[in-house]
Amino acid sequence: MRKAIQAVRGMNDLLPDVVERWQYIESVTRDVLSAYGYREIRLPVLEKSELFARSIGSETDIVEKEMYSFEDRSGDNLTLRPEGTAGVVRAGIENGFLHNQIQRLWYAGPMFRHERPQKGRYRQFHQIGVETFGVDSPDIDAELILICARLWRNLGLNGLTLQLNSLGTDESRKVYRGELVNYLKQLKSRLDDDSLRRLEKNPLRILDSKNPAMQKIISGAPSILDYLDEPSLRHFEMFGDYLKQAGISYAINHAMVRGLDYYTRTVFEWTTDRLGAQSTVCAGGRYDRLVEHLGGKPTPASGFALGMERLADLLALHSDGVRTKHPHAYMILLGEAAQKHGLMLSERLRDAELHIECHCGGGGLKAQLKRADRRGARFALLLGDEEIRNRSVSVKDLRDGGAQSSVSQEKLVEYLHEKLGRRSKT
Ligand code: ATP
Ligand code: MG
Repeated sequence: MRKAIQAVRGMNDLLPDVVERWQYIESVTRDVLSAYGYREIRLPVLEKSELFARSIGSETDIVEKEMYSFEDRSGDNLTLRPEGTAGVVRAGIENGFLHNQIQRLWYAGPMFRHERPQKGRYRQFHQIGVETFGVDSPDIDAELILICARLWRNLGLNGLTLQLNSLGTDESRKVYRGELVNYLKQLKSRLDDDSLRRLEKNPLRILDSKNPAMQKIISGAPSILDYLDEPSLRHFEMFGDYLKQAGISYAINHAMVRGLDYYTRTVFEWTTDRLGAQSTVCAGGRYDRLVEHLGGKPTPASGFALGMERLADLLALHSDGVRTKHPHAYMILLGEAAQKHGLMLSERLRDAELHIECHCGGGGLKAQLKRADRRGARFALLLGDEEIRNRSVSVKDLRDGGAQSSVSQEKLVEYLHEKLGRRSKT
């Protein structure tokens, strides 16, 4: 036998049980987002590498060591998107839908980062991202938080905590940066290599270090909130007031700078203590300078992205949140005539909005019944020579101790709807 080929490390196959959980999250999210007036956008997974270098920031983990970049056959340098915001802004500028208007958008899809794979951290992972453009005030930041809170509620998730910080403006951050460097220089001998390298170029990134040995230094660092300019401070306070008014509790974490360089003012993360080390389920903030930075007209913006893998894992821990779809009935076919007739009878039932899994490939009653059971069907519909002759079906209620009744094919739709507690369409 030839050696089987395996998937790329850190890139997962999503099998049906998991996909059903994902579809549930997706449909709940879609409903929540449309209730707030957000519209979906679908963009390429490949972009020019330059887009990410320019937007995410050259000193970030993503751009320094995580991007899947390559030269294509025409010699263009391309990158599999590591996140969604840069592409949305690129598309917005290119299609002219950002300037002088308010946009509420969302997207969903795979992202790619060459990280060390572990639980909750993969090389291909999936995000649902939400972006707003054209609103400068903190009301829309609060709206983003309300969306998340409603989403957790509708998904039946609890125990998610909200952390907030403000990064101020470019100017206020410059002052803070000076103070941070002074502080870190005093501790230079204890900094790890990454931090030493970033000390001059991008010291704020040091606060984002995942190295446990750095955490003590980070927690003793001066707080960025003490350096906020007046408008940013007001923005942050108003944001907090909106949340209080909505009854949403939060904690302030002044060391939270987020993994991307483009954030300004409000940043936030939703975390859980139920997923181990990869605890951030959703993260975002304001990025008022990015549109301009990528060549558009100055446009305030804010957004967030949630990690599907982590959210799905969390949902799996709340067993009542997970819904597996079972067929209403499994059609069991015994003999050649039944096989022929069964396909068409199943079609008629599906026309009446019943979910029918029709047995294919032949086999005996026992094997087919076993399969009906395994698929979680409520009913087994038995069709054999005798049933064909008298135009009936033997209906076995698999949740009622297997009680069996003979039902005429003509009355079958009505019968099943009634048993399922639905109003018959016929
Ligand atoms: P982390 O601090 O966990 O590395 P991040 O700051 O890099 O996260 P963002 O770029 O803000 O993450 O992405 C938003 C969300 O996407 C994260 O909160 C997380 O839920 C998810 N996410 C990010 N990277 C990965 C990954 N490699 N695998 C799975 N999910 C991820
Ligand atoms: Mg990361």
